[in-house]
Amino acid sequence: MMADHGGAAAAGAAGTRGPEAAASAATVVTALAAAAGTGAPGPLDSGPAGHLATVAAAVAGGATSPASAVGDGGFVFDAAGGDSLREECGVVGVWGDPASAATVYYGLHALQHRGQEGAGIVTSAPDGEDLLEHKGLGLVSEVFANVADLERLTGHAAIGHNRYSTAGAKSVRNVQPLVATFRDGPVSVAHNGNLTNAPRLRVELELRGSIFHTSSDTEVILHLMATSVSSAGELSRRVADALGRVEGAYSVLILSRESLVAVRDPRGFRPLVLGALPSGGHMLASESCALDLAGASLVREVEPGEMLVLSATGMASYFPFARARRRACVFEHIYFSKPSSVVFGRSVYASRVRFGELLAATAGVPHADVVVPVPESGVPAALGFSAASGVPFQQGILRSHYVGRTFIQPSQGVRDIGVKLKLAPVRSVIAGKVVVAVDDSIVRGTTSKKIVLMLRDAGATEVHMRIACPPIIGSCYYGVDTPDRESLISFRNDVEATREYIGADSLGFLPLDGLHDFLGEEADTFCDACFSGQYPILPVE
Ligand code: SF4
Repeated sequence: MMADHGGAAAAGAAGTRGPEAAASAATVVTALAAAAGTGAPGPLDSGPAGHLATVAAAVAGGATSPASAVGDGGFVFDAAGGDSLREECGVVGVWGDPASAATVYYGLHALQHRGQEGAGIVTSAPDGEDLLEHKGLGLVSEVFANVADLERLTGHAAIGHNRYSTAGAKSVRNVQPLVATFRDGPVSVAHNGNLTNAPRLRVELELRGSIFHTSSDTEVILHLMATSVSSAGELSRRVADALGRVEGAYSVLILSRESLVAVRDPRGFRPLVLGALPSGGHMLASESCALDLAGASLVREVEPGEMLVLSATGMASYFPFARARRRACVFEHIYFSKPSSVVFGRSVYASRVRFGELLAATAGVPHADVVVPVPESGVPAALGFSAASGVPFQQGILRSHYVGRTFIQPSQGVRDIGVKLKLAPVRSVIAGKVVVAVDDSIVRGTTSKKIVLMLRDAGATEVHMRIACPPIIGSCYYGVDTPDRESLISFRNDVEATREYIGADSLGFLPLDGLHDFLGEEADTFCDACFSGQYPILPVE
């Protein structure tokens, strides 16, 4: 049976901010300030929510990295039980900056949460014959561990990419940016998204003689550009011609010796922003947090369907594709994007706090003693839940930031070692309490089950799980790695059956109509297909 999109099993709601909420907010601030070791908090001059936002961001450190770790030697270990959706990429581009490679490097650091399996940077100099590249498997800091590899990438323009690959496709060949040489010279491409008609296009291209070097759908764009009948020498025309044939999600950067082209698909599934560098150059990135780290100021979003061309003659904007209704990925606000980012014109942090407030209004737990976030991504929603319900917020679960990327195989006698390595309950907060645990989402339900058990083992008298998004009932075709829908617990079960599986006393989700109310007039400009089953584009085999 399909998941029930309604509210929680628990009854009651407290959706107003009153004295109780203010007291709760003060409790939160005190708790967070103590946790951060910052002493007493500052004045609440921007209101509880604004102040809490500042404090919580300091505690959370802005980290939303999927809680996975990939061990060497073929042992794949996920410290949080592999129960997260995963973004498949982040892109960064720079034009007109003498230190372009270093700027892109910092941008990729800021976007590490969007992909951890590979990274690369390609640079271009006006007088250079070739594009320069360095890429490899691993985190940005690992791929560029040798500073000489970065210093070698000279040039005023650069693009970079963080990749998260699906199982079986983890190969350095697939690490982007991809580089190819056309009749007009070398070109490089970095892509965030997923092309829904790539398999069909790939077969067509192979039948016409194309030889692919990767299993990435991004290479289809290069081959379409190579076989474009558009006039030679104009990269932007080749790009428009190629992208006019693909369907699906793409925020893509294409670099040549003469120009940097940035394009967002007509539905704008994935984000892409434009920034201004202090050096006078421009920066493009998947999220505004990359601009922040590089010292660039946010100018605006690249519009859905827009092509920006940066060259020696300046910056030009085109809309070469048929217009379509925007379908921005709402999951960017629920989980993927960093809370410090502004995505699709909205603060990610503010969205998550509001999801928590709405969750409290529809699935409150009036007799609860404490609201506990599942770190890190559940923190803003838990703050919102606490502020709206008046139930005190406490960091009852702590996350280890020092879990390495390689583990020895745990002994069979150590139960649920994965979650325990990553998350630890604070018994003094949990024992003898009615606990509301707030998380951003449930995918397979395996992690939620372990967290409920962990809280009970720590002495909780009741555990009420609250999820700051609707039940996930479908896979994503637009650049997010999701399990088959049969593996999604909310595809196979209604709320009560899911509650029973995870072992909670009650379970509540943010209702889909609550999400729509939050989005307001923009609701039909967001994709919510993994919750609603309403897919803007279906894949073509
Ligand atoms: Fe985002 Fe879900 Fe739509 Fe994929 S299906 S683009 S994850 S909202």
